[in-house]
Amino acid sequence: MKGTVYKSTGSWYLVKTESGELYKCRIKGKFRLKGIKSTNPVAVGDKVVFDLEDQQGDEQQGVIKKIEERENYIIRKSVNLSKQTHIIASNIDRVFLLVTLNNPPTFTTFIDRFLVTAEAYDIEAVILFNKIDTYSNEETMEVKFLAKLYREIGYECVGISAKTGKSVEKVKELMIGKTSMFSGHSGTGKSTLINALEPSLDLKTSVISEQHRQGQHTTTFAEMFDLSFNARIIDTPGIKGFGVVDMEKEEIGDYFPEFFALKQNCKFHNCLHMEEPQCAVKEALEEGEIAWSRYKSYLQIMEGEDENYRIDNYQK
Ligand code: GDP
Ligand code: ZN
Repeated sequence: MKGTVYKSTGSWYLVKTESGELYKCRIKGKFRLKGIKSTNPVAVGDKVVFDLEDQQGDEQQGVIKKIEERENYIIRKSVNLSKQTHIIASNIDRVFLLVTLNNPPTFTTFIDRFLVTAEAYDIEAVILFNKIDTYSNEETMEVKFLAKLYREIGYECVGISAKTGKSVEKVKELMIGKTSMFSGHSGTGKSTLINALEPSLDLKTSVISEQHRQGQHTTTFAEMFDLSFNARIIDTPGIKGFGVVDMEKEEIGDYFPEFFALKQNCKFHNCLHMEEPQCAVKEALEEGEIAWSRYKSYLQIMEGEDENYRIDNYQK
């Protein structure tokens, strides 16, 4: 049988088949996928093949025997010395970044780091400028400016109000048939938006009650939910941000699509767009074809104040 992992507890996995049946599955023996050394062999979002076991009691359980190759996956590294990798979730089609100009402010350096991570993970990113119901004329101009900047690079941008419902339908359209994640600083309106998308799905409540029932405060795991409009959402309670990606200095520029498009015109094929002569990226920057804010973010990531630079949601 084939299905998708909707929930993982570390010891068993909830797998949903295409016809919507849920099976509690375990894994037998050790197996790992293509050289990824992770603490968990199976993650939420994984497409798996499983066998049903002989029924014992009132519940039929399964044994996972194969994981299909992942389209992508996001990881977390433990901070202790073992530096073990934990796969948070896999097969994510879209990640929506909620951005507000103030309450809380979202800086372009944060947006750019987020986008670089999404590129490195190979997940399509969409920027949602939330709380447009609160903005002054000046702030509205700034949102328009930013939306234009990011659209020109190729990112979908939508101005929304999770509170009034403005353009929430557009977000729905972007989610149909896909598996999505939501990210952004705490207070940017993620819960409000998810509630507007699907009022019956109260993620916070479900997570709290689950913890309460288990009576423990161990790691919380990601969980996938089906929404009523043929969309899936992955919730990552207790996981700050979007994970960490190891990147070589040489590849960071490739995750800025507008830099990558020009790279072939740089004199050196391995140009870092910093001190090198005849750099097409720096020429485009001088000519105003590349935004200074993007270049500034690039330099900041290149300088790497963190060994593995890190995206956090600054959760409460
Ligand atoms: P989260 O931390 O990202 O989940 O943010 P919340 O959904 O908890 O929202 C934080 C605060 O912003 C709450 O007081 C919401 O009512 C408010 N909020 C969220 N979206 C909007 C919006 O579009 N307009 C306005 N005016 N307030 C909003
Ligand atoms: Zn260059």
